[in-house]
Amino acid sequence: MNFDAIAVSVALVRERIARAAERAGRNPQEITLVAVSKTFPAQAIRDAFLAGVHHFGENRVQEWESKAPDLSSVDAIWHLVGHLQSNKVRRAAALFDRIDSVDSFPLARRLDVAAAELAKTLPVLIEVKLDPEPGKSGADPANLITLAESVLTLPNLNLRGLMTIPPFLDDPEQVRPYFRKLRALCDAAAHHLGRHLPELSMGMSHDFEVAIEEGATQVRLGTAVFGPR
Ligand SMILES: *Cc1c(COP(=O)(O)O)cnc(C)c1O
Repeated sequence: MNFDAIAVSVALVRERIARAAERAGRNPQEITLVAVSKTFPAQAIRDAFLAGVHHFGENRVQEWESKAPDLSSVDAIWHLVGHLQSNKVRRAAALFDRIDSVDSFPLARRLDVAAAELAKTLPVLIEVKLDPEPGKSGADPANLITLAESVLTLPNLNLRGLMTIPPFLDDPEQVRPYFRKLRALCDAAAHHLGRHLPELSMGMSHDFEVAIEEGATQVRLGTAVFGPR
């Protein structure tokens, strides 16, 4: 897609976000659009930035490593939204501003050490596995409180909330219970920890409006912004 096409997609998506927020009696400003740019070239990211998108998500450290040098002048916030392997933690800590996919304490501890070496504090989300399908990443909801408590002891991580990737179901209405569940887990964890956990990263191109109705503060949109992969 060229700049005009991306600008049109962004405008359309913003309008849909606003309408979903209004339906839920929410302020659209509370919802951050994270454009997921995996498989798309640096130019597409630059175009989306010029069209007003300031948050981008990538799911692989290596792919982002190859695009980032071309985008050093783009003053955006870069999120890792995909599963992070322990051998890539140091590179991820250096390359990303936020890690939205922390799913274990060993990973969190390694990230904390890497962030300390870089003298930075990394905002993180805990990814929760709500999809029963084996092989999907994310922390077991039963361990969430324990994991959140231990992440809070790490001085160079700043726990901001939760993230999930629900199963892909044709009808977005069928995904609603997963979003509702993440919201309930986040409220319960915040209450238990006596701490504000303001971010809920949930909702992708085909179901983000339902996610917003259920309280998403960050929607991660790839196809809806950049077109089919
Ligand atoms: C690819 C991806 C998205 C965006 O998917 P679309 O369906 O294209 O919007 C969101 N979150 C994660 C973790 C992804 O890997």
